[in-house]
Amino acid sequence: MIEGGTMSRTGAIIAIIASIPLLILGGIFLIAAASNPSRLLTSMFFLLPGAALLIWGATRLRRLAEISPEALETGIVDLARRLDGEVTVAQVQSEFRISQDLALSMLERMHGQGNTLRERRGDHDVYLFKSVMPAKAIKRCPYCGSEYAVRSAMRECPNCGGALEIVKE
Ligand SMILES: [Zn+2]
Repeated sequence: MIEGGTMSRTGAIIAIIASIPLLILGGIFLIAAASNPSRLLTSMFFLLPGAALLIWGATRLRRLAEISPEALETGIVDLARRLDGEVTVAQVQSEFRISQDLALSMLERMHGQGNTLRERRGDHDVYLFKSVMPAKAIKRCPYCGSEYAVRSAMRECPNCGGALEIVKE
């Protein structure tokens, strides 16, 4: 599930629109306060909620833009580049402060597009981004030492059946 759907985007836009008349009214009373100080309290009555709505709406919109699928895809490739081509769900989750479900669905989506190799390590999957893997990465059999191109689809050694490991030289 993608976090923050249409509803929260609409809510953020409504908050920003609603803040405008409040800020205008607050501004008018603030100007009036120059000659009549009792207007200051009235101006705050409009300015404070107006400012709160504007800040909340703008923050929410910026956050939604940060975690849009397009922004996340770009960000995940950048993250993979920093991490020698390998990322996990947990790394994506903590880097972008998103839910585990969203991190997993993004990685699976990119995997589905053929951008990654998925490798099981212990209790979790590692996603290997072909486009940013170090050039010298290879698949190696830990048992017989046979080496294969990292882009090959094989997971098991054709010679001895061992599980191939990706090695960066
Ligand atoms: Zn082997």
